[in-house]
Amino acid sequence: LTAKDSLLPHMKASLPASTLTLLKQIGEIADELDLPVYLIGGIVRDLLLKRQNEDIDLVVEGDGIAFAEAIAAKLGGSIKTHDTFGTATWTTPADEKIDIVTCRTEYYEAPGLLPVVRASNLREDLRRRDFTINALAVKINKENFGQILDFFQGQNDLKQRKIRILHTLSFVEDPTRILRAVRFALRFGYQFDEQTERLAKNAAPMLTQISASRFLRELELLHEEQHLLSGAKWLDRLGVWEALFAYQPTANDWKQLSEVGEQLEAEMEPFLALFVLFHQADNFEQKLQRYALTIADMKLLGEWTHLHSFDTREKPLRELHGELSHFSDLALQLSALLDNKPFLLDYVKKRQKITLLLNGHDLRKQGIKPGPVYSSLLQQLFGLQLDNAIRTRQEALEWLKQAAHKAE
Ligand code: ATP
Repeated sequence: LTAKDSLLPHMKASLPASTLTLLKQIGEIADELDLPVYLIGGIVRDLLLKRQNEDIDLVVEGDGIAFAEAIAAKLGGSIKTHDTFGTATWTTPADEKIDIVTCRTEYYEAPGLLPVVRASNLREDLRRRDFTINALAVKINKENFGQILDFFQGQNDLKQRKIRILHTLSFVEDPTRILRAVRFALRFGYQFDEQTERLAKNAAPMLTQISASRFLRELELLHEEQHLLSGAKWLDRLGVWEALFAYQPTANDWKQLSEVGEQLEAEMEPFLALFVLFHQADNFEQKLQRYALTIADMKLLGEWTHLHSFDTREKPLRELHGELSHFSDLALQLSALLDNKPFLLDYVKKRQKITLLLNGHDLRKQGIKPGPVYSSLLQQLFGLQLDNAIRTRQEALEWLKQAAHKAE
């Protein structure tokens, strides 16, 4: 043990009295079973930082599921067990959820393979975690309730404001930790420890091995914390983009990312951010395809390919509409901003405001036989309204008489 500090004052100051009582009760049940039990993870870090966090994670040196059952038998509520490896969620009678796990060791026989897991002690359990500041534990057994266990100098790193991994293979074992490191650094305003930074840079190419959905999920979390742009820049300094896209965004790409974020009506979510940052990269569509996980993303890529190579010179809106009516607002707005075609923005804006002055019913009343001609006529009318060539229903009906005549 490197620090024998007690977290009790922080716990009393920050946790609701009912939570503190609950932790004491859990500690007493553990004592009866002779099990060491600890509060771990983000909540310990946040208690030390005086940041709000009520996410209670417990580990026991022993059978986590049996322990969870004993807790529910004594205190009520229900438990749900998750996997074969001693993980349970206890739903308290007050309907709060508390995770209880068995201390375990995970080791990787080869990078990329799933880890081998076995039961172990607290130190080993903490060692498999990501950063020193997330590897602090607090004892909640009656004896020494509130004692901090700090095997990896996590408290020191909190003081020094450093993100530090626990062992040199950490990023190789799980490259998503590179993104987690950036997220925590930005959240707390910390820096990477020097060795951590070097190892993150070395491991950046390993990010090609994690799934696109996992990668995007991490970007999403950065986004939720309002740090997508600063996070993407940090990842750039670590060589992540060069490794994934063989392209380093230019000053202009970064500028566009912040501008597009402000101008788009859609939210600047991670896929769009990648889109903006890498639209100049060689084989852009091919590279981005891996990250296009939704139908909307795939559609956007396809639309972009068309729009990008499409000769969209300025012309009357009705002509543009003839060619672009099927394209989504988002694709058109992106093309307007990234390909510098502002008239597309104008087209989208006008298009959004138009309500057709006639409908199928009006066409039928005019004696036009239902068929494909309906959509063609309505499309023409839409174009004329776009150009302000037709402004009222009366004008529309007059136009229809002539158009119907021609259509016959
Ligand atoms: P937050 O405040 O974002 O909830 P947290 O520290 O609780 O932060 P979680 O993502 O909820 O973060 O993870 C809980 C704990 O599990 C972390 O504190 C960390 O110790 C561990 N952990 C999570 N993901 C990893 C990972 N990829 N590698 C190692 N340890 C991890």
